[in-house]
Amino acid sequence: MSEKTLFERIMDREIPADFVYEDDRCFAIRDINPAAPQHILVIPRKPIDRIQNMAEADRELVGHLLWAGGKIAKEQGFEDAYRVVINNGAGAGQSVFHLHVHLLSGRDLSWPPG
Ligand code: AMP
Repeated sequence: MSEKTLFERIMDREIPADFVYEDDRCFAIRDINPAAPQHILVIPRKPIDRIQNMAEADRELVGHLLWAGGKIAKEQGFEDAYRVVINNGAGAGQSVFHLHVHLLSGRDLSWPPG
């Protein structure tokens, strides 16, 4: 059996985290090292390491992450403006190889991102 990802260990409550949302397909936690006043990670329960390794059957799941992100933004009161980011690949800043969506809000977010 392959080793669990960090986010699977968080999902299984082996590592503590600040959960803000959960449903049958995904969960969301506050980032431990926030890059903005609001920084939430939306994570599928199914571990997919990176975008290009999604199965065709995962398309709906990844859409679900965006839907859940919108719901969380409303619940947390930052729906007016937030950035949605997926770092895909180490060179793009990915450090946890379990696909996840960052929601960032609460400060000016410049474009293009660094
Ligand atoms: P990425 O670099 O895009 O793969 O994002 C991984 C994110 O996970 C980073 O923003 C980290 O700060 C965050 N992170 C790492 N460990 C934890 C943890 N134990 N609890 C919450 N967030 C974490």
